[in-house]
Amino acid sequence: MSAIRHALSIKREDDFAQWYQEVISAADMAEESGVRGCMVIKPWGYGIWERMQRLMDARIKAAGVQNAYFPLFIPLSNFAREAEHVEGFAKEMAVVTHHRLVSDGKGGLIPDPEAKLEEPLVVRPTSETIIGDAMSRWVQSWRDLPLLLNQWANVVRWEMRTRMFLRTSEFLWQEGHTAHETRVDAVAETLRALEMYRSFAEEELSLPVVAGEKPENERFPGAVSTYSIEAMMQDGKALQAGTSHYLGTSFAHASNIRYQDREGGQQLCHTTSWGVSTRMVGGVIMTHGDDDGLRVPPAIAPFQVIILPMLRENDGDAPLIAYCEELRAAIAAKDALREPIRVLLDLKPGKAAAKRWDWVRKGAPVIIEVGPRDMENGKVSLLRRDRLWNDAGKSDFSFPSRDEAVDGIAALLVDIQRSLFEEAAARRDANIVRDIDSFDALADFFNADARFPGWVEVQWSKPTGAALDAVVERLKALKLTFRNVPLNADAASGACIFTGEPAVERIYVARAY
Ligand code: AMP
Repeated sequence: MSAIRHALSIKREDDFAQWYQEVISAADMAEESGVRGCMVIKPWGYGIWERMQRLMDARIKAAGVQNAYFPLFIPLSNFAREAEHVEGFAKEMAVVTHHRLVSDGKGGLIPDPEAKLEEPLVVRPTSETIIGDAMSRWVQSWRDLPLLLNQWANVVRWEMRTRMFLRTSEFLWQEGHTAHETRVDAVAETLRALEMYRSFAEEELSLPVVAGEKPENERFPGAVSTYSIEAMMQDGKALQAGTSHYLGTSFAHASNIRYQDREGGQQLCHTTSWGVSTRMVGGVIMTHGDDDGLRVPPAIAPFQVIILPMLRENDGDAPLIAYCEELRAAIAAKDALREPIRVLLDLKPGKAAAKRWDWVRKGAPVIIEVGPRDMENGKVSLLRRDRLWNDAGKSDFSFPSRDEAVDGIAALLVDIQRSLFEEAAARRDANIVRDIDSFDALADFFNADARFPGWVEVQWSKPTGAALDAVVERLKALKLTFRNVPLNADAASGACIFTGEPAVERIYVARAY
């Protein structure tokens, strides 16, 4: 029995969903807005998203992709050109029909019947169709290819079951859209984006992921193939953390994206699209959070180091503040993880211990406390957020000299970044099961431990069409879904657990967000 008094009132093991909500409010990241499914992202939550944006944007640009911006509104007819695409999104589209309000005669306002739009406008749920329009103008010849575009934007999908960050009706994301001469080029781009997401998740978010191809039933509406990165949350569920789609020529056909090839003939482009969203913030919470709040990987922490002077609110404070300001500047002059260290001197009024717990809940990677006695002795009290408690159940402070703290801080941040990854990777690897060889065994496995089931990798014969639908229904009855066919899996060697036919590949099955 541990005597630790944790900073949150709800523990992960008692109620993971409630714990998640508590982390978001205790870390002051976001709140509900009053508009269903739409959240207000507060500075600490938005700061984490901004860090993700910045690091992802650098990777996108390094791949030769250029940012552009396209309209929020898409003409309905434009959207309807690709039949599967419109069918896939029709159920969750917000539509603008009027451009003016008038008085309803009772003190309220209604859309003005006189101001009805000739053609309704869809609030973009994704931008293939409107970017396709631009591509059809911008691409003339093979010399214009590949055309590699990205947009940072908000999109709207009228989701029925929403959860902050993980699934919201309005979310923030980047969407890459590219056009190529050949299938080979476009598939290579699809896989390049997937690999960019994998390395971004693992290196910057300390989030171990499995990169692989989605089965037919999980494909993006209108895509030829969809790939994803999947992460395991601490409750064993999977989170699709990013997707990359090879769209074949169907979107090019719908938007008329054609080019003159080297022989003078007219060809349809092969296109791709790929995106990651604010969902990743939720993935970071559910992967790294603990019973004391969030733990932010240093690469995406708005502040990596917090300096807390133990102020007495008297005349003695001035030299301590000056000392801490000098310490702040010394740390800020150093680099860690290829950037200057982001360090905050927290001079807000209040007791140091209370402020410390605020930063613990927010998950700042390193907290340095300095009291008048520490200043005299040239020492600091240093806490790393990823290892908060010692074996005796006390806050695990270390007490380096001021100079040791400054000199060691970069290596410490790198170590925290790595150790968060290792902790999550070990948990994931320990919770993937591979020896299930029948559907009954699968059902038993998930029925036996509903609280933390983990993932199962099974062999299957990859049925299609109605046969696949039947399998998906059987899984659904167990609240299970297919996640992906990992790119680096071993070859199949047994029988399909669904059809009994010879298996052709291995696929992950899991509960999912
Ligand atoms: P998609 O365009 O459907 O492939 O979505 C791209 C990525 O956006 C997905 O892989 C998710 O990570 C994310 N995403 C999809 N729907 C939502 C949502 N409602 N809220 C937050 N993120 C989402």
